[in-house]
Amino acid sequence: MDVKIGNATLSLVLGDITKENTDAIVNAANSGLRGGGGVDGAIHRAGGPAIMEECRKIGYCPAGQAVVTTAGNLNATYVIHTVGPIYKGGTRGEATLLKSAYLESLKQAVKKGSKSVSFPAISAGVYGYPLSEAARIALKTIIEYLKENNSIDLVRFVLFDQAIFDVFSEELQKLA
Ligand code: ADP
Repeated sequence: MDVKIGNATLSLVLGDITKENTDAIVNAANSGLRGGGGVDGAIHRAGGPAIMEECRKIGYCPAGQAVVTTAGNLNATYVIHTVGPIYKGGTRGEATLLKSAYLESLKQAVKKGSKSVSFPAISAGVYGYPLSEAARIALKTIIEYLKENNSIDLVRFVLFDQAIFDVFSEELQKLA
């Protein structure tokens, strides 16, 4: 599913983000940048040790922020590691932190001159964010950003299973 936002395209696709060839791909990392399960593990496995080497040097990234490394063996040029909030009921600033994770990732992408960026569904896995709310915040944040900025041409949400893809599609239809 594709929508035009100004001159940019926002796409939802079902797939594996490690296969993307956008300039940057975003990793849903943890604060210690240590790798782990989910999309984080998949990116490190597919991208090889050069990514972890840079993560170790950077050392830490707080929730709501983002840092950049090489993409190693991946097709992308950069991996942007952002840390989403761990969902604890919704009253601990989770929505603000999730929005910030998307925005800071876009800012890092622009800083590196990236024109296209792929995102996973940040915090929607082990971090436990309720899916439709996570999708709504993700899409709203990207749409607002693309309306106000024109350095990014393409944002792709690469959604790993049909259930998440369906939730994102539903929320996008409400917003676009
Ligand atoms: P978080 O800790 O931020 O919740 P997870 O990695 O547990 O991060 O989950 C985030 C989302 O990434 C989930 O929707 C999960 O299904 C998805 N995911 C896992 N592997 C991949 C992959 N290879 N490509 C894209 N998305 C993935």
